[in-house]
Amino acid sequence: MPARIDLLGVPVDCVDMGQALDFLIDHAAHGTGCATVFAVNPEKIMRARRDETLRALLSSATLLIPDGIGAVLAARILGLGRFGRVPGSELMPNLCERAAARGFSVFLFGARPEVNDEAAAALLRRFPGLEIAGRQHGYIDDADMPALVERINASGAAILFAALGSPRQEAWMNRHAPALRVKVAQGVGGTLDVIAGRVNRAPPLFLALNLEWLYRLLREPRRIWRQRALAAFAWAVVRERVRGKGR
Ligand code: UDP
Repeated sequence: MPARIDLLGVPVDCVDMGQALDFLIDHAAHGTGCATVFAVNPEKIMRARRDETLRALLSSATLLIPDGIGAVLAARILGLGRFGRVPGSELMPNLCERAAARGFSVFLFGARPEVNDEAAAALLRRFPGLEIAGRQHGYIDDADMPALVERINASGAAILFAALGSPRQEAWMNRHAPALRVKVAQGVGGTLDVIAGRVNRAPPLFLALNLEWLYRLLREPRRIWRQRALAAFAWAVVRERVRGKGR
């Protein structure tokens, strides 16, 4: 189990991509129960600082991946640990690749119906050996959830990807994990949209400079409201650092 640190009052696990993959594939092969994987980024940390329910939800995860560069840099600046970024949108295809090699099947739950279809087709093109045991788009009623859980279990899938947005997907996984027979459940947010080619990731230069957030801001200026959380996060890190030095 990777070490869990407390980043501004919110838990994050010190893992890199390789460790996360090894841990999850090993759990899929030998583990008991459903290991849940949630992503942690500055926006979620700032929300969780104010929202005790979200904090408890995050703490319940088996693995909390440092999704963005913000969490990685903050942990470094505060002397809490050195680890790399584990973007959920990269962990998911990496898991699919390993699942295909090891014969674990996957279930895709979430996103709009056409996005779910296109993402499945794109994944099969990319990983021809992948078995998609079942799929369900993300716009169904709460009343249909017990039947969905039964369908996921009957599919024999080892890995479930839940793409309902945050914190909806985390709440869903937390609630249904005890009844799920899948060994791993990852909350993947808008990743199916990316895989389906509906949302472009930033060009390589932006990615290499850890400036994906800037690219997304330039493309969708409305995101400025979301990016405000990033500024608040940076400020909270600086304050914590200054306070730590004073101690
Ligand atoms: N979504 C869904 N059901 C819902 C609400 C959202 O399946 O009731 C999907 C939506 O279609 C999209 C994803 O959840 O594919 C949310 O993506 P977003 O980028 O908003 O999530 P984030 O990564 O920011 O948590």
